[in-house]
Amino acid sequence: MTSIYDDPAAFADESLDGFVAANRNYVDRVDGGVIRSTEMSSGQVAVVVGGGSGHYPAFAGLVGAGLAAASACGNMFASPSAGQVYRVAKAVDMGGGVLFTYGNYAGDVLHFGQAELRLKGEGIDARTVLVTDDIASAPVDQRHKRRGVAGDLPVFKVAGAAADAGIGIDEVERLANKANDRTRSLGVAFKGCTLPGASQPLFSVPAGKMSVGLGIHGEPGIFDVDMPTATELAELLVSRLLAERPDGAGTAVVPILNGLGTVKYDELFLLYGKVEKLLLAAGLDVVEPECGELVTSLDMAGLSLTLFWLDDELAQYWSAPADTPAYRKGAVDRRPRRQATQLGSDVAVAESATEEAARLGHLAVTALETVSAVVVANEESWGTLDSVAGDGDHGIGMRRGADAAVAAARDAAGTGVRNVLVRAGEAWSEKAGGTSGALWGTALIQVGNVLGNKDTYSGADAAAAVRAFSSAVTELGRAEVGDKTMVDAIVPFAQVFADEFERDPRVGPTLVKAAEAAIQAAEATAALRPKLGRARPLADKSLGHPDPGAVSFAQIVKGLADMADAGDAGGSQ
Ligand code: ADP
Ligand code: MG
Repeated sequence: MTSIYDDPAAFADESLDGFVAANRNYVDRVDGGVIRSTEMSSGQVAVVVGGGSGHYPAFAGLVGAGLAAASACGNMFASPSAGQVYRVAKAVDMGGGVLFTYGNYAGDVLHFGQAELRLKGEGIDARTVLVTDDIASAPVDQRHKRRGVAGDLPVFKVAGAAADAGIGIDEVERLANKANDRTRSLGVAFKGCTLPGASQPLFSVPAGKMSVGLGIHGEPGIFDVDMPTATELAELLVSRLLAERPDGAGTAVVPILNGLGTVKYDELFLLYGKVEKLLLAAGLDVVEPECGELVTSLDMAGLSLTLFWLDDELAQYWSAPADTPAYRKGAVDRRPRRQATQLGSDVAVAESATEEAARLGHLAVTALETVSAVVVANEESWGTLDSVAGDGDHGIGMRRGADAAVAAARDAAGTGVRNVLVRAGEAWSEKAGGTSGALWGTALIQVGNVLGNKDTYSGADAAAAVRAFSSAVTELGRAEVGDKTMVDAIVPFAQVFADEFERDPRVGPTLVKAAEAAIQAAEATAALRPKLGRARPLADKSLGHPDPGAVSFAQIVKGLADMADAGDAGGSQ
């Protein structure tokens, strides 16, 4: 139970404010999370962690010297938005690139991924290392699908120590990936956890039982057993983890025994003693262990054991000093306070635009108004289509996104194309919700970044914009042709655009042909079974109906083609 709050909806925010107030020597609050309040070196890599709130000391408690540069903090058990992640990262970018590292959860992957693409679009070298340590969440041959739990700590620690040592981003990324490859965890739970304001726990474990492998948000476990003795529990955890010793593991291992919320330290220590005996009996060398609360799950009664297999280089970064609100190791010299960070708007709209650039910016606003008109006309039918095998929100989501995009674009009118489209894309992804909103928002931002705020555009710019849209969607969503998503309409659209444009480099007619191809490809998705997204579990129902995201994309580009064609007929470029 969570007893202390005024308004449960404000819990995560108010708790974070108080955390910052209590730790000003370490952190400053920014929109979307916290950043180090102490100086970092110019040109160093910024390691940005994060995820939902309710897991303290993950993630805000791990921000400080020798560890993370910043944490993007979402609502209780919910990913931060892409805009939050982006702003937090911008606030700590020291010119050496940004390494995002966080546990592998779908919402986080989408939102952090979107922020990563935005940073890359601005020329910032952004990378991602996902933590995938939970052996209960997928078989060993699908390690990349596993979720991240207390293995966050060793991965963040190695990345943070390497970044603070001044190493370049390629090496920091390599070391973080290596730390993740050599980390395995398994958790158990005795009792569920309750969100602030909720009257019921999120999930429950039958009385007298222990659930093995249950996720930190109540994701199903592998099996339930009768409550074991401490000795039996230690044996279960150690034997399962040793059975998954990573390739190249030596004998040096860091055990991390992590309390998930309401298990007392006294109990953890009792169990730790037994875990260590078993590891020593297996011929291993225990190095700088941890025993305490490191990644929690509100008031969940449970714990996890992580084994982090060191080699010489990882040992160096694991042992390096660190000084954060929740994690301290060795001695770190006090660092001076950082100069106040300038956190203005995301995009420099103040960039002055020439008259011609502003006229083209207005044209971008008109194009978005056309998109919005198509969305309004089809909102209901897209919703109906999404209710066949999805959750029925595709129409309303696209409507919210397009409305917000047009409003933001009109606010930015008078500036260049880039500013209009980037503003519109940000607004789309913040307001639309859903997978398609994240994809459309990011794609618009990338198109804006590619086009820039120029005075004239050639057909080649249009071709580059189409490529940027397509690759933003495939990079972020990782869907392939045939998965039954909007990608099935986008890829043929981009292909036909490129081919036709090479034959006859006039944008209007090229767009018309490409849009026709998109419409046909969208219709053809009716024959496919969805392999991704919310529709996947209901694949059979979806057969015979086209994919809503593919249909909406095709109809939107058809609307734009009609507009461009009419423009061509009128003799403008
Ligand atoms: P949600 O699925 O979150 O409810 P929407 O209903 O607005 O979002 O959008 C659903 C559409 O999103 C699908 O029809 C599909 O075209 C698209 N989609 C889902 N996942 C992906 C992905 N990984 N890559 C590309 N498109 C996707
Ligand atoms: Mg939907």
